[in-house]
Amino acid sequence: IPLAQVITKLIGLGVMASQNEVIDEDTCILLADDFGKEINIVEAEEEISIEEEMGLNYEDKENQLKPRPPVVTVMGHVDHGKTSLLDVIKHSHVQTSEAGGITQHIGAYTVNVNNKKVTFLDTPGHEAFTSMRLRGAQITDIAILVVAADDGVMPQTIEAISHAKSANVPIIVAINKIDKPSANLDRVKQELLDNGLMPEDWGGDTIMVPVSAKTKEGIDDLLEMVLLEAEMLELKANPNRKAIGTIIEARLDKGKGPMATVLVQKGTLKFGDNVVSGFSSGRIRAMIDDKNKQIKKAGPSMPAVILGLSDVPNAGDLIYAVEDEKTARTIADKNKESSRESRINTNNRVSLENLFDRI
Ligand code: GDP
Ligand code: MG
Repeated sequence: IPLAQVITKLIGLGVMASQNEVIDEDTCILLADDFGKEINIVEAEEEISIEEEMGLNYEDKENQLKPRPPVVTVMGHVDHGKTSLLDVIKHSHVQTSEAGGITQHIGAYTVNVNNKKVTFLDTPGHEAFTSMRLRGAQITDIAILVVAADDGVMPQTIEAISHAKSANVPIIVAINKIDKPSANLDRVKQELLDNGLMPEDWGGDTIMVPVSAKTKEGIDDLLEMVLLEAEMLELKANPNRKAIGTIIEARLDKGKGPMATVLVQKGTLKFGDNVVSGFSSGRIRAMIDDKNKQIKKAGPSMPAVILGLSDVPNAGDLIYAVEDEKTARTIADKNKESSRESRINTNNRVSLENLFDRI
């Protein structure tokens, strides 16, 4: 069956798929049915990474878990104000004690709201939901869906809703550009309702906050809603173990070598830790936070740039702190070996990324 036909049918089923999309069991059955076919689902063999095989990603006990900040992604249609909103939040909520504020883009940053921390992914929302999720990483706790009050629900708004829903990530809507004379809140709410998001003030359970990235109106309300949602999610992690995190961004710096932004998920990542991520391993010889400040450690939900890796790791891959340098190198070598055996098609990342605008 031609690919275009399959994709068209999937879109008809409400699944915004690209050619390498992973679809769930129910969708498979519906899709096959549409083509007059019946399919048998057999259990897929679970893929276990070398790190998992070695028991590095063990579960923590309930009593070891401590509250952690929420990790938030901003999504929405092009030009609805994602970048503007992230900028306003970044610049108006950095800790006032930090002179200079945030000086560099590292792919994530943490702000203080009423003495509580919130981490924002400063990268395109689609990446957090597509390429990263393809690799099994689910790092976002809450999605802020930006909808321009003068433009309403657009194709990428609907895509964002579908991505957040399939990832089971709660959505908070920021109805942006309310400063514009042509803003129409009720129309936007109606359109969102038509797309499965019922406004709280209409009896539904989706929080919708009118904001303006231009006048900064409503931004504090939005952040408070994020904290409220985070509280209900009871996000927790064990800070007292060897760290596991996800690579948010990575690049080769001419002078400093491979640099990677890690979002810590479990444990505490420390200066001097031996780490491994895919083929890349090394000892952390510097850690920098989102304010370009040298730090010694980063706990759950905190982003940090690390130096000391042998190679540039892949965004979306996990990174593990391990016992010693030899363990790190052995795992990296094994990862190289197993990837040679089953070449992963990295093309699907590119095609998925091209589907959406960049932030
Ligand atoms: P993105 O594509 O979603 O990242 O959107 P941008 O943040 O780049 O914003 C697109 C355009 O809308 C820019 O020209 C912004 O200055 C403008 N814009 C963003 N937020 C607001 C707002 O609250 N009010 C008004 N009037 N313009 C806004
Ligand atoms: Mg943008």
